[in-house]
Amino acid sequence: MIDYHAHSRLCRHGEGEIYEYVETAIARGLSEIGFAEHIPIPGLDDPTGRMDIEEWDLYVNDIFRAREKYPEITIRFGVEADYLPPFLDHVTKLVGGYPFDFVIGSVHFVDGWDFSNPALRHHLDEFGVDRLYRRYYELIVEAADAGLFDVIGHLDLPKKTGVRPGIDISQYVEEALQAVKRNDLALDVNTSGLRKEPKEIYPAEEILQRAFALQIPVSLGSDAHKPREIAAGFDVTIDMLQSIGYNRVCVFEKRRRTLITLEAWPEKIASKA
Ligand SMILES: [Zn+2]
Ligand SMILES: [Zn+2]
Repeated sequence: MIDYHAHSRLCRHGEGEIYEYVETAIARGLSEIGFAEHIPIPGLDDPTGRMDIEEWDLYVNDIFRAREKYPEITIRFGVEADYLPPFLDHVTKLVGGYPFDFVIGSVHFVDGWDFSNPALRHHLDEFGVDRLYRRYYELIVEAADAGLFDVIGHLDLPKKTGVRPGIDISQYVEEALQAVKRNDLALDVNTSGLRKEPKEIYPAEEILQRAFALQIPVSLGSDAHKPREIAAGFDVTIDMLQSIGYNRVCVFEKRRRTLITLEAWPEKIASKA
């Protein structure tokens, strides 16, 4: 099995070195691990959200060194790139400048506010819950249409705030899925929601049912920010994906997507955030 969404201490809100994630992945029997560290963005005020651009080579080197040191597992070089309109040129340049296996496009910011950062949660009242959901899905459509990404990260992330919308957002979700479909992207099935406030995966089961009907492929990741979170929640998530009908998940090499069989995950890994 695979885990295609791992971070590390480099992002400043994670723990552990790249090699510790790799060793955990090997111990848990994974065949592939994909690192998707947050993209550095010079000029963005986000001191705990990502590495400095000066540290980027450290990340790249750690991954390539780990590839040599651990030939028993496939290590994929990825990045989680924010869709942030003011910084699109920088993101485009960095994404185009490295031999990535895969690029996850995520929306963490709406109109300058990182709603995914619990420390900035207090902006919610002023911003408005319904507006957050509306803007989020508008930005997801733009991100999917941007031609920059292979995978859309943790769709339905606004539920991380713990507050559900007061309005019916099904049309927004549908438009987002249509954008993912028309751009032939995959969805990041992300187990971190199980460990956090929403207590369910991203995206929610009903969204995945619709994605399956649209034949949108899925990737699978823990969004681990600690080595012990690798493959966390995979038992219930894989069961759920199979019950929806998903029998395969995406893997990527040099941004070329193929599908592998989704195997049942035997072991419960309870990893507290
Ligand atoms: Zn993170
Ligand atoms: Zn993310």
